[in-house]
Amino acid sequence: MPVNPCLLTIDLQAIRANYNYLKSLSSADVGAAVKANAYGLGSREVVGTLYAEGCSEFFVAHLEEAIELRSSFAEPNIYVLGGLFEGEEREFLHYNIIPVLSTGHQAELWQKYAQKLNKKLPCIVHADSGMHRFGMTEAELQMTSTCAELDVLYLMSHLACADQADHEHNQYQLAKFKSHHHIFPKAKYSFANSSGIFLGSEFHFDLLRPGMALYGLNPTPGKPNPMKNPVTLTSQIMQIRQMADDGFVGYGAAHKAHRNSKIATIPIGYADGFLRNLSHHGFVYIEGKRVPIIGRVSMDLVTLDVSDLDCKIGDRVEIIGANSHPDDIAKRAGTIGHEILTSLGSRYARIYLDDKEK
Ligand SMILES: *Cc1c(COP(=O)(O)O)cnc(C)c1O
Repeated sequence: MPVNPCLLTIDLQAIRANYNYLKSLSSADVGAAVKANAYGLGSREVVGTLYAEGCSEFFVAHLEEAIELRSSFAEPNIYVLGGLFEGEEREFLHYNIIPVLSTGHQAELWQKYAQKLNKKLPCIVHADSGMHRFGMTEAELQMTSTCAELDVLYLMSHLACADQADHEHNQYQLAKFKSHHHIFPKAKYSFANSSGIFLGSEFHFDLLRPGMALYGLNPTPGKPNPMKNPVTLTSQIMQIRQMADDGFVGYGAAHKAHRNSKIATIPIGYADGFLRNLSHHGFVYIEGKRVPIIGRVSMDLVTLDVSDLDCKIGDRVEIIGANSHPDDIAKRAGTIGHEILTSLGSRYARIYLDDKEK
């Protein structure tokens, strides 16, 4: 039987605790962004966990992700943030999936389909409040509001700078979003992502849409992280090699040993989401001790300088965990924690922990 040396453990109890913590911060309903396989952590397991906690509003990016979820969960509302393309209308209806309409074109498609069936169809309308990425202009909102067959459950918008609490654009977008409310006076309103929740209750409205905070990333950068990290990733030492002080390591012979050193090789690489950008300057941990990555990260292998360590083949190496938070790894790799999580590879053995008694 194959042995899988890389082990990804997801603690569903931590995700549950994060959800309940966010819920405690607001009187609004709390939905969940579970796009991209719940930021890499496994959408079926995450949705199952949150649904059991009373969460009934789930957001994905694409129709395919929604259909996949629907096959496991008949009840909760599933929204597609990307909206709909022409020709997808039937599937949205068939699988009971709700599109988030972000353009006048999408509103027209859904409205035409509703007219054809002679029934009201549910949707969320996404207003652009100043991010200028996706979402309707004021003229498109006005047009959409005249579509009598659209049952607009929520008017929503998305914040561009919520992770920078002092950024003046937050107040600008808040005012802009509120200025759109009169166009849909009967709808409920949804505005805040994870960081938006921490901007204060005036950003909360009826429904919160956290993603990253549920998965343990810090929604308040620069301040202590109030969330629990559910992710542990370990690998195992496969080889230990003694090196002379003039030896090179890895592709490009890019690392030169400056002393007699001991090099450990672990079977994980950029094909697993171990970002190549961590070459030469990332860290992993062995028995709680920090170990530098040396040489280039390859597709399937990473080399470590374990000269100062007493270690042997088979020893566990912590890539993500108590010592190494995804936000910290991201900083070293020049990216954000979201990318670390969504890059988590498909070759890992995955274990879900769910100790409800804890
Ligand atoms: C991804 C996403 C969210 C969740 O964002 P986080 O920053 O991860 O909390 C909320 N709303 C929309 C529209 C999104 O695309």
